[in-house]
Amino acid sequence: MKKHNFSAGPCILPQQVLLKASEAVQDFNGSGLSLIEISHRSKDFVEVMEKARSLALELLGLEGKGYHALYLQGGASMEFIRVAYNLLETKAGYLNTGTWANNAIKEAKLFGEVIEVASSKAENYNHIPKIYGVPNDLDYLHVTSNNTIFGTQMKTFPKVNIPLVCDMSSDIFSRQLDFSQFDLIYAGAQKNMGPAGTELVVIKEDILGKVSRKIPSILDYQVHIAKDSMFNTPAVFPVYTSMLTLEWLKNIGGISAIEEINNKKAQLLYSEIDLNPVFKGFANVEDRSIMNATFNLTDEKLKDTFDAMWKEAGISGINGHRSVGGYRASMYNALPLESVGVLVDVMSEMERRA
Ligand code: PMP
Repeated sequence: MKKHNFSAGPCILPQQVLLKASEAVQDFNGSGLSLIEISHRSKDFVEVMEKARSLALELLGLEGKGYHALYLQGGASMEFIRVAYNLLETKAGYLNTGTWANNAIKEAKLFGEVIEVASSKAENYNHIPKIYGVPNDLDYLHVTSNNTIFGTQMKTFPKVNIPLVCDMSSDIFSRQLDFSQFDLIYAGAQKNMGPAGTELVVIKEDILGKVSRKIPSILDYQVHIAKDSMFNTPAVFPVYTSMLTLEWLKNIGGISAIEEINNKKAQLLYSEIDLNPVFKGFANVEDRSIMNATFNLTDEKLKDTFDAMWKEAGISGINGHRSVGGYRASMYNALPLESVGVLVDVMSEMERRA
């Protein structure tokens, strides 16, 4: 029996995507060859790359607006470096909202001055700072839309007149936003897109070419744009699977349709967390993520019983990250509402038994 998969990433993908991806590993498009044993320069794969790129722009509403979509390698962590390499001339601003933002800051400091415009580190990242200034002389401002570990999510973004860069690794394609407010968006594939091994970078070309340093080709966004995301061998299987997931998303109605389902899932779980005295939420209520819900038991003595109960119910992947403890239920796009229902039932049964 398929488990209820609440893993934080890599995570659940649509069943039909997994099926189609596994078929392509055996026989891609009836070619008699596997997807992973053909040239990435073959017509069939070039079509996959082009489709994956155009679907990303289409779903984000960024077609014809000066943006390029790239599928690169090295993970979101590589983009911490590429962003600074390509954009940081003297000084950049970072909003420090979690472990990943903090890691991005660490890397950027290798390239220039970094200003933390605000930070919630002192409160173990349980909220998103709201009141802060952004100096006008920064090369860019970097934010993290969703903090996977702590379960917080930015609901609004600062209005700035410098390039706005966003790490959207754990909530891309999950909710409607005006994506044109960002000049660069990046996201590891392994949440709402596909297997680990590629990351999507959506970039407005006019912010590039402004730093004085020489950039190695593989780190240079302009090279990847010029080569249509085929500068070197791309991660063919993760790109193909991402394409299938984006097709699936488009077919079910795009971001607005999935957002409605994601909101229902989040509402169901958070209302149980709030009403059930056995549990308490970790993140500040107004900053709660619709992707990752973090919560703790009010009485740690119930841990063994609760753990046995959710495992018995076929639930997987809700152990919290070590820096928060407790539980984290990740409700990415492909997680059915029914799985959240199963978790909520176990939580209310826990209350009855406590
Ligand atoms: N940013 C965020 C918000 C993440 O959740 C993660 C990974 N969970 C990363 C960056 C790092 O991604 P990767 O492992 O692909 O380098």
